[in-house]
Amino acid sequence: MDLHYTPEEEAFREEIRDFLREKLPPELAAKVRGGKRLTKADHERWHAILSAAGYLAVNWPRAYGGTGWSPVQRHIFDEETAAAGAPAVLAFGVNMVAPVLMKFGTQAQKDYYLPRILDGSDWWCQGYSEPGAGSDLAGLKTRAERDGEHYVVNGQKTWTTLGQYANKIFCLVRTDPQAKKQEGISFLLIDMTTPGITVRPIITLDGGREVNEVFFDNVLVPVENLVGEENKGWPCAKYLLTHERTGIAGIGQAKAALQHLKSVAGRQLKHGRPLTEDPTFARRIARVEIDLMALETTNLRVIAEAQSGGAPGAESSLLKINGSVLRQEITDLLRRSVGPYALPFLSELMDAETNQTPVGPAEAAPLAAEYFNRRKLSIYGGSNEIQKTIVAKAILGL
Ligand SMILES: Cc1cc2nc3c(=O)[nH]c(=O)nc-3n(C[C@H](O)[C@H](O)[C@H](O)COP(=O)(O)OP(=O)(O)OC[C@H]3O[C@@H](n4cnc5c(N)ncnc54)[C@H](O)[C@@H]3O)c2cc1C
Repeated sequence: MDLHYTPEEEAFREEIRDFLREKLPPELAAKVRGGKRLTKADHERWHAILSAAGYLAVNWPRAYGGTGWSPVQRHIFDEETAAAGAPAVLAFGVNMVAPVLMKFGTQAQKDYYLPRILDGSDWWCQGYSEPGAGSDLAGLKTRAERDGEHYVVNGQKTWTTLGQYANKIFCLVRTDPQAKKQEGISFLLIDMTTPGITVRPIITLDGGREVNEVFFDNVLVPVENLVGEENKGWPCAKYLLTHERTGIAGIGQAKAALQHLKSVAGRQLKHGRPLTEDPTFARRIARVEIDLMALETTNLRVIAEAQSGGAPGAESSLLKINGSVLRQEITDLLRRSVGPYALPFLSELMDAETNQTPVGPAEAAPLAAEYFNRRKLSIYGGSNEIQKTIVAKAILGL
């Protein structure tokens, strides 16, 4: 296993840097760097720029319009886009439902949906979790009953990220209530504009509307929207989750956040000297930096394995646990670095077009909100407690 970059990979990095210098709108990068909320239009704009360059579907084979990049190239791309302040690509279409369609979908589903993900016609959201069925996902109750050429869907999903913007939702539904839990589930593609769907906001700790509840009341879904076979949706569900977790480590974003922490702490003075020179604070930053290097090495090992044909399994749980813990630690240090200025919390300051004035340095304004928002990292995509159980069983054999 060689964990060094080849000259070709270094040349590829330069190519990506050139692309970002040329195409990443500075005002978008400023919003990301300033911790502002991104609008629907911001996300769509960045997706369109990536799509035009052929860089949106980094994990798709070329045959479907993807880049066909190696795992190392994808890693470099993640690192460079995060360092440049680019918005993260929304995973629901490109990285979640697309791989499921490629593996389990009919030709008609692939032909219809994949190009629409690339050209931005569809915004997907994820209808997995329900009240009472998050960690115990197979306990879901949303029903889909066959009636002629349709399924009639009734039930509720929750925590649906950015569902207010989506025109499509992929859903796990119960099609056989008598069967064993995992055996009566199907994977359905549903148009959000179908009558009977209601989306209600959940306002989060940071005052944002990132998640929603979605209700289904006698929603008619054509049978051709079933992916795979009826009652055999569980393998699709699990396949999608390994794709979701591997990307969640967020190493590129952690590196960018660490750089930001160093620059914020470098400008804050304690007893007349930069906070980065304070032994206690410097020790905490060093610890994060070392842990991040260790995580990156683990990530590169997983990538090297994938490069030679292996598939990430329980390792994706390890990456998810450590990546989320690190990013939470960085936001904690950021908040601490500005001390009392992190306390005043004006949710409006997270919006780019606000006329509110921050208390203290402008860079301090989003830090409390960011700290609260990052609590989610150890919960979504499968909570860290559950990931630890997976690691205990699958890696440690406990
Ligand atoms: C910000 C955010 C965005 C999300 N976006 C989406 C989305 O777009 N689509 C979607 O479908 N879902 C989404 N989710 C849902 C997410 O996947 C679930 O919240 C997660 O799987 C945990 O389920 P739960 O909330 O039901 O918690 P529970 O399962 O009720 O767990 C509560 C606590 O108990 C612990 N616990 C539960 N069972 C065990 C066990 N067996 N052993 C040890 N500890 C256990 C958990 O780790 C957790 O700490 C999102 C969640 C958040 C917070």
